[in-house]
Amino acid sequence: MRSPLLLSAGFRHAFFLRNGGVSPAPFDSLNFSVSVGDTPAHVHDNLRIAADDLGVAADHILYLDQIHSALVLPGSRADHAATYRTTQGDGVVSADPLVACAVRTADCAPVLIADRASGAVAAIHSGWKSTAQDIVAAGVRALRELAGGRVDLLAAVGPHIEACCFEVGDDVATTLAGASPDHEVVRPGPRGRPHVDLRRIIHAQLARAGVAQQAIDHVRGCSVCDRERFFSYRRDGARSGRMLAAIVARASK
Ligand SMILES: [Zn+2]
Repeated sequence: MRSPLLLSAGFRHAFFLRNGGVSPAPFDSLNFSVSVGDTPAHVHDNLRIAADDLGVAADHILYLDQIHSALVLPGSRADHAATYRTTQGDGVVSADPLVACAVRTADCAPVLIADRASGAVAAIHSGWKSTAQDIVAAGVRALRELAGGRVDLLAAVGPHIEACCFEVGDDVATTLAGASPDHEVVRPGPRGRPHVDLRRIIHAQLARAGVAQQAIDHVRGCSVCDRERFFSYRRDGARSGRMLAAIVARASK
């Protein structure tokens, strides 16, 4: 799936679906995690498929060992992919047009951010814990530092566990409501427990961080509801595959 907004600004990117890869069930088929039980050979082939789509080399797709933090790290073509991928963090920022900044998700929200002024980009893994720590603000800060001047930001929030399925305990609901500039983000679900709208929280956090309202795109889909298109940890448990979301910097004007 693509964001029309990012496309119109000339940023190569994708929110990859679970389809079109080589992994067998239950990782069928475009899975990007070996830690769930899939083989490195399958993930390697899937990375090549993503690399072809993004127009970069497979070992220039940079993602981190994700830990649900608010840590955003810079990456470039000088980084050795295998080393980078075992470094802990939840966001990647780069101005290198040969590199794809990437995150892997199954229910957590992937957020792609781009600066039209410098061409620099960021990929952010905003699950509920990172959302509670306002990781998109950390991503915007890292982009501003890298750009080093006036920025003109765009963002796209990808498919994840939407409010229909994101039922949580009262403690999580309270934590997330406290992290949200928009207070209309929790509503009671059909079973009386709170449902949280992560998309709405992330939108409000992006706006507070300086992304204009009309520069925030939404690529919608619920990972839990739509088994055909998405992996979901909540639905499928520990052996759920992981999807990739990635964006490539473009040379500055
Ligand atoms: Zn749903």
